[in-house]
Amino acid sequence: MADRSVATVRHMIEERLLYLLVWARLTQRFTVTAVPYRRPAEGSAIVDFRCEECDAELMLEVKSAVLLRKVQRRRLWTAVVAFGAGVAAGVAAVLAESAGLVLPLSTAAGKWTLAAIVLCPVVGAFAAYGWWHESGVELHAVEQDVAQDRAGPHTLMDPAVGFAERWHRSR
Ligand SMILES: [Zn+2]
Repeated sequence: MADRSVATVRHMIEERLLYLLVWARLTQRFTVTAVPYRRPAEGSAIVDFRCEECDAELMLEVKSAVLLRKVQRRRLWTAVVAFGAGVAAGVAAVLAESAGLVLPLSTAAGKWTLAAIVLCPVVGAFAAYGWWHESGVELHAVEQDVAQDRAGPHTLMDPAVGFAERWHRSR
């Protein structure tokens, strides 16, 4: 985990989705602002900057490597446990079925087993996505709708894609 890096913040100017039967094309026009940051030794740090397109006051919240690892570990464990529980419920249902045990949905055991089989993979998928995409860097607007924490047309480009960093290095 690099202590110093550059975040790429995008100001979306135009976004169009063109549908032609089974074919779709997404056209995006945006400008980017490169924001260098340094990871703090502990806790999290705020980096203030302005959007190069609209001059909006924005900030990055950068977690320390220790904090980031803690968040990632929690998400990974949530994913592992959720997938494990889903598989266990599925195996239990198959074993019960082959043993001639009927697990009717009218019973609590039947409902819980079905819920576990259906919901655990969903929870696991969300947690796994969060684990994979968590970079410990969050974008906030300084003047924002506090309830929604919106940053307007600004989004942080996902470093998990690897594009942002490569793009910076190639310039
Ligand atoms: Zn902007």
